[in-house]
Amino acid sequence: MATIFIDDSKPFPIIPEQPDNRHESALEFFKRQATGLKLISDEMEQESKEQEELRKLQEKSLERKKKLLFDNLDLIMRHRDEILATPRYANIDAHYAIKGGGLYVGPLSTSRAFNIAGSIVRVNLRLATLLRIWDTDQFRVGCKCGGTALIRSFTGSPLSGSSRATAYCPECKQEAHVANRSFGGYFWYLQTKLNEETEKVAKAIITKWTLAETEYEKKVEKGNYKGPRPGAEFHGDSEYCNLETMINNLKMKEIDFSTTPQYK
Ligand SMILES: [Zn+2]
Repeated sequence: MATIFIDDSKPFPIIPEQPDNRHESALEFFKRQATGLKLISDEMEQESKEQEELRKLQEKSLERKKKLLFDNLDLIMRHRDEILATPRYANIDAHYAIKGGGLYVGPLSTSRAFNIAGSIVRVNLRLATLLRIWDTDQFRVGCKCGGTALIRSFTGSPLSGSSRATAYCPECKQEAHVANRSFGGYFWYLQTKLNEETEKVAKAIITKWTLAETEYEKKVEKGNYKGPRPGAEFHGDSEYCNLETMINNLKMKEIDFSTTPQYK
C-alpha cells in the first residue's frame, strides 16, 4: 500500500485553469501526489497541442473556401436551381460563408458539434439553406452596379434592434454596407434555419436506422440468418461532394465546346 505523505512546507499547487478542469477532491490530490501522477499528463498536453494545430489548419482551410465561394458567387447564383435540386450540391457545408452576432447574444454559431455516445456528429449550415436565406429581402440589397448584393456578416443589438451588415455583390464583386435593418430579422431567422438543419440530420439518422432494422428483419425472416445485427445495414448518404468539386463541375458545364478550337 502506498504511504500518503503530506508535505505542507510548500504552497498548495495551482490547478491550471482549463475549461474542462474538474476540481479534484483533497483525497484525489493526495492519492495523485503519492503516485507522482501529474494533473495534466504529458500525453494530455500533447493532445491539446495537436488539436490546436488542427484547429489552426482548419481555420486556414475555411478562409480559403470562403474566398473560393465568394469569388465564384456569380457562377453559383447562375446554377442556383440546379444546386437546390442536386442533394450532393445542396448538402455542401457553407457555414463559413455567413457570420453574425450581437450584444448579449454573442456570436451565432453556424456549425454545431454534438457528442452522441462518444461520436461527434457535426451539423453545418448547408449551401441550399444559405441560398434560400439569400432569397429573403432581409438578406439582399440592391447594389450600385444594378446587381443584387447578399448579406454575409452582421452585428447589432437585440435590445435596440439596430444592426450593421456587409453585403457582397456577385456581379461587380464589391462589398456594400447595410445599416439599420432589424437585428432579429438576421439573428433569429438564421437561428431558426440552423435548428431546422439539426432536425433534418437527426431525422435522417432515425430514418436510416429504421430502414436498416427493416432490411435486417427481412433477412432474418428468410430463415436461418445468422448475419450481423442491423448496424451492417446502416448507411449514410452515399454521395458526398465538396465545394471545390462542385465549382469545378459547374465551370465545366459552362464551357462551350463548340467554340473551343481544339474541340471543333
Ligand atoms: Zn454590384
